[in-house]
Amino acid sequence: MIRKTKIIATLGPATCEEPQIRRLIAEGLDIVRLNGSHNTLDWHRTVIRRVRAISPLIPILLDIPGRKVRTGILAKDVPLTLGGVLVFTTDDSDAPGEKIPVTYRDLHLDLRAGHIVLADDGTLKFHVVEVRGRDIICRIENAGILRSSKGLNVPYVKLNGPVLADRDRRMLEFACAEGVDFIGVSFVESASHVAEVRKLLEGRSVGIVSKIENKYGLDNLREIIIASDGVMIDRGDLTAETELETLAIMQKRILREAQLHGKPVIVATEMLHTMIHNPQPTKAEVNDISTAVLDGASALMLSGETAIGDFPEQAISLMSRVSSVVENADAPELAADFTEKDEMIPSAIGGAILELCRKLPVTKVICLTASGFAPKMIAKYRLRQPILAVTNSIEVGRKVSMSWGVQPIVLELKFSRESADHIIRTLKDLYERSIISSDDLIIVTAVKHPRAGNKMNTIEIYHVNDLVESQGWSRDRTT
Ligand code: ATP
Ligand code: MG
Ligand code: MG
Repeated sequence: MIRKTKIIATLGPATCEEPQIRRLIAEGLDIVRLNGSHNTLDWHRTVIRRVRAISPLIPILLDIPGRKVRTGILAKDVPLTLGGVLVFTTDDSDAPGEKIPVTYRDLHLDLRAGHIVLADDGTLKFHVVEVRGRDIICRIENAGILRSSKGLNVPYVKLNGPVLADRDRRMLEFACAEGVDFIGVSFVESASHVAEVRKLLEGRSVGIVSKIENKYGLDNLREIIIASDGVMIDRGDLTAETELETLAIMQKRILREAQLHGKPVIVATEMLHTMIHNPQPTKAEVNDISTAVLDGASALMLSGETAIGDFPEQAISLMSRVSSVVENADAPELAADFTEKDEMIPSAIGGAILELCRKLPVTKVICLTASGFAPKMIAKYRLRQPILAVTNSIEVGRKVSMSWGVQPIVLELKFSRESADHIIRTLKDLYERSIISSDDLIIVTAVKHPRAGNKMNTIEIYHVNDLVESQGWSRDRTT
């Protein structure tokens, strides 16, 4: 059973050694995520190179710290008692004292008495009693433990920190130097925010995954999706910043909108939270995974479950099993019918391929792609058939791996501008490699005679057996 929904796992102290990474891949990990807010650059460099050495086709997503406000480095974990007092401070000369340092230097200017501050994906709550100089004096609203580098949220309050701080710039340089495939950007609020990051990438091909995690990101959702290479629904920050009650509505809206634009969309945070310390998930978690799959998520993400959890392999394996069973169940039709008028030829071709796949017993959809654009336009329609993205670039192969149901095949291809015989040559190669067989009915899409741009403009349908006979193909590559 081929699984279409991709699985992203955050690597951390529990999963950074080579044998552990290999086991996660064997259990179903498709994409590695690293969270640049935790650990050192040296640690990230080591892990990135390790992943590349194990498998050059696994995409790597690196989240840069961005606008997310966090607690600083604490000398020790801080136990919280209900009704007690806790002081956050933006005065770094005070650390390490009793006060909790925060990473955003001007937080005291944006807060006043009466505001609510949440910590650690909204699991800890504080009520601001007074702001005195750089100190933010809070009443503790629930018991728990506050740790280093945990996120802080102030619901409905627009914090005025810079889109990118020096630390982010350094990490972007690092991401480019190490050749990561995607960077995750926190708290994206507009297309211009994405453009600012894109400008710093100076034309390099790193994809931008915008994390939708507050009201402003939702308000400008469409323009952000159009400007980005993918989006992540970070439910931890999103529900802390807005209303927890509307999570399902927000999630469905983001999934649908991203799908409409053919952009990968990742559902993140607490998907298997109990599996951090327990080998079994809850029924609610299994249901959450299933719903995300049925709603067309391109990828599901594990965070603490794999970064610091006790059962990372089991979490991936369970997520993989549930996703493939749900995708392949008889009842649901995952395919998306977009009735919106669409004047883009590639996207219209994607829709036509969906129709063909419903009418014919198509076994594979093959997409020849130089840029990686075409497979996304097919994945958009969530068809049941495997989408094979044939490309001559390993980087493009990794990029398209983020898309729903797309399997990259990296071959030495010569994309020809003048003639269209690259299609038949590629099919012959796929046949010789046993990637397609005589009993396949395939749909092929590619660019023929490109003039303006490099977008797919053709659909061809073949019984592979007919090609084998008419072209005299053989699997003995010496003939
Ligand atoms: P984000 O909003 O970006 O998701 P987060 O703090 O929720 O930030 P996650 O990436 O979701 O972070 O990871 C969950 C937890 O796992 C973190 O809070 C942290 O405690 C731990 N963690 C993740 N990556 C690492 C790492 N590289 N080193 C140490 N701990 C990590
Ligand atoms: Mg977040
Ligand atoms: Mg998180």
